[in-house]
Amino acid sequence: MEEFHLGMDDIDSPRGGCTTHFASLLAEDLTNLGVTWLDYPNLIRLNPNIPYRTRGNGAVVLRFRAPPDVGNTVLENVEQAIEKYVEHDYPNTNPGVVLVRGRPPSEMSKLSTLAEWRVLAIDVVRRFLSRHHIAHISRGNGRGIVGATAAVGNRLLDDCTFEFIAYRSLEDTAHERGVDAESVYEMNRRMKGKTFSNIDPQTGSVLIQPHGPDPVIYGIRGDSPSDLVEAASLVRCHQTIERWTIFRTNQGTGEHLRHLVRISDLRPYMAAVVRGRVERRGIMTEGGHLIFTISDDAGTIDCAVYEPTGEFREVAASLIPGDIVEVHAGVRPASRTHGMTLNVEGLNVVALVENVILSNPLCPQCGKRMKSAGREKGFKCTKCGYRDASLEKVREVVPRHIHPRLYLPPPRAQRHLTRPYERLGVRNVLENTVPTLAWLSSHGKT
Ligand SMILES: [Zn+2]
Repeated sequence: MEEFHLGMDDIDSPRGGCTTHFASLLAEDLTNLGVTWLDYPNLIRLNPNIPYRTRGNGAVVLRFRAPPDVGNTVLENVEQAIEKYVEHDYPNTNPGVVLVRGRPPSEMSKLSTLAEWRVLAIDVVRRFLSRHHIAHISRGNGRGIVGATAAVGNRLLDDCTFEFIAYRSLEDTAHERGVDAESVYEMNRRMKGKTFSNIDPQTGSVLIQPHGPDPVIYGIRGDSPSDLVEAASLVRCHQTIERWTIFRTNQGTGEHLRHLVRISDLRPYMAAVVRGRVERRGIMTEGGHLIFTISDDAGTIDCAVYEPTGEFREVAASLIPGDIVEVHAGVRPASRTHGMTLNVEGLNVVALVENVILSNPLCPQCGKRMKSAGREKGFKCTKCGYRDASLEKVREVVPRHIHPRLYLPPPRAQRHLTRPYERLGVRNVLENTVPTLAWLSSHGKT
């Protein structure tokens, strides 16, 4: 038996199929061929700021042991399966598949880390694959091999979560999923602390079901596979669940935001934490976006908090010059209308200054707010005529409505990788990645 790591990315079909769905079908085939699973299928999210990753599609890795004869034909079989799944000449997909035999080279985990917060160039990946004689399939513009390679290198050692994904058939993708919202609310109540990002608390919208025409009916996220099986049993939907799969993932781990970057070192599309001092208060644009400015010892940059983040904008709007913040951000490149900008996806308020307002004193005789009597002439009262050259402006401390802590946009506006409030301080480390329960709907069936 030999060890294999099969990474794949950007496998979409004209009927809305996606990489995780394709991987589920493939996992079923491999199970039937008698492979031994080393891990749950890994669903790896990469740098969410990369512009050509249009659908937020995650890359998937299947890790298993197989007899050499199975191993020798894996890539050929995958290639045929892709042809069938993608159908001929479907232009919107650039499938990439990578097959590592034996343990993945350590250099691969470095590529993986890079792909999480920077732009991993396709040429770098191609050179790496050829240097290590790693077999791969690359179609379309070949971008898929970047995600496939980066995903194989991520062993999810520091932290991980799981997602239970229920699928419908590709024939059903044109119709309503019919996920029963009441059943999701009930599941959310019963599985509190064991699942996350089921519902948006402000809008009440159900977040477990996507809206596109893809085969995913719903996905439930949490820290333990058995909790997710229980959670899924509580959710009702009209459409038939054709299959389900439990993935081990980096979703909800925040692992794209592990780099503290100085403003002068920021580059387009980076995912970075930027520590700075608020220079200018937030200004609301016509589109409802809030823009404020921070600086560090090396530069100054605008930070944008977008309209869809709703009430999260109020946190940014409460910042005043002098406050120290750590901005969790994606770097948007400069354009004709604006300089390089931080797209804010989290705000860690580190320190707040006192919000002091200087105002004119109240009249000691009648209590009315006084007017300035001219430069260095103190104040005068317009009501009773009282004047006093010795009076000075009064210092007033206005209470702040935010506190030193981490603020996140509401769940509906979070990234797949965002570490949600429910997981702050949580580290889910697996001693052994070999699955201990059925993670594929066809398991246990004959
Ligand atoms: Zn007065």
